[in-house]
Amino acid sequence: MKLKEFEAKEILAKAGIRIPRGVHIRKGQMLDSVQVPAVGKMVAKAQVEVAGRGKAGGILMAERENLKETIEKLFSSSVKGIPVQDILVEERLDIQHEYYLSITIDRSQKTPVILFTTEGGVEIETLARNNPDAIRRASVYPLLATVPGYTLRYLLNTAPGEIGQVIQALYRVFMEKDALLAEINPLVLTPGGLYAADAKLIIDDNALARQGIRENRDLSEREREAAAQGFSFVELEGNIGVIGNGAGLTMATVDLITRIGGKPANFLDVGGGADRTRVAHAVRLLGSMPDVSVIIVNLLGGITRCDEVAAGIIEAGVSQQVIVRLAGTNEAEGKELLYSKGYRMLDTMEEAVSAAVEAAS
Ligand code: GDP
Ligand code: MG
Repeated sequence: MKLKEFEAKEILAKAGIRIPRGVHIRKGQMLDSVQVPAVGKMVAKAQVEVAGRGKAGGILMAERENLKETIEKLFSSSVKGIPVQDILVEERLDIQHEYYLSITIDRSQKTPVILFTTEGGVEIETLARNNPDAIRRASVYPLLATVPGYTLRYLLNTAPGEIGQVIQALYRVFMEKDALLAEINPLVLTPGGLYAADAKLIIDDNALARQGIRENRDLSEREREAAAQGFSFVELEGNIGVIGNGAGLTMATVDLITRIGGKPANFLDVGGGADRTRVAHAVRLLGSMPDVSVIIVNLLGGITRCDEVAAGIIEAGVSQQVIVRLAGTNEAEGKELLYSKGYRMLDTMEEAVSAAVEAAS
């Protein structure tokens, strides 16, 4: 789950990283009641989670005199299509240099990896393309509680040594918060020292309970419902609903749809041993998606029984066409049930996916 900038900054501040003085304002809040820091020059920053927010008009410079108008202007705008609901007003930093610092997981090494570059401020993806040698990266042995000195020296090279303390603090945050990403871009050098001018923190969804976070706000209404049912479910942009059992089979179905030119509407893994109620829930969930015109159910019966699956599909009774591929335990009973209700069934995954793509176009 992605935290908002002001939430991430509060966490960084508690860990000892300096952040600009500022205040968080919600839309509709009375501006007169807001305690704005007593400084002349300020920045108003829309709290929307889009890349390149600054360039997209989400960051406005303000003076004390026109602060109110600037805030109202930002609230009445949207950034890359997202309406502004929260604003962070901060003292404007006197920037001497912008650095980039982040910590994420290196999945192939199975370790945290720290990225640092003196060319901060811009998007790291752009820098990685144009000047990859400018980015220093170092992995940290995951059982170490702190970043070793030699790693800091390698990362910083000739950059100011105080940045080492920021890296150390960010590493602590990364580990304590079960983060997948902790990023400060830019980390800025001012006459008053180093500041995190921007901050991004993504918490591992699997650690939300341990972190005391009740609700994953990144989920859509439907994804939330699916989570309550225990489905692995991700909404995509297309019109072909997909139900499979097992992440591998479901992913393969999504991939095959894409490969032959169709557009999957989702990924939904009902899990092993799904009974009729579970299957019916899954089918209804996809049936409720406005863009879905056809649903493909691709299930392998192991502990899952094909006759239960068939009963679930029939019970759901959605208005969209449902194309089924079933194989395994009680296959004959399941197929017979579906035939008797006029459902379309195909023997192989390739045939079923082709039929679904054709029906959707
Ligand atoms: P992002 O576009 O969402 O990454 O937003 P950032 O908070 O990183 O800001 C983008 C850019 O705006 C920074 O790289 C700075 O150049 C500029 N900026 C942000 N805050 C300040 C500030 O306090 N003072 C000055 N001078 N520039 C700022
Ligand atoms: Mg930034």
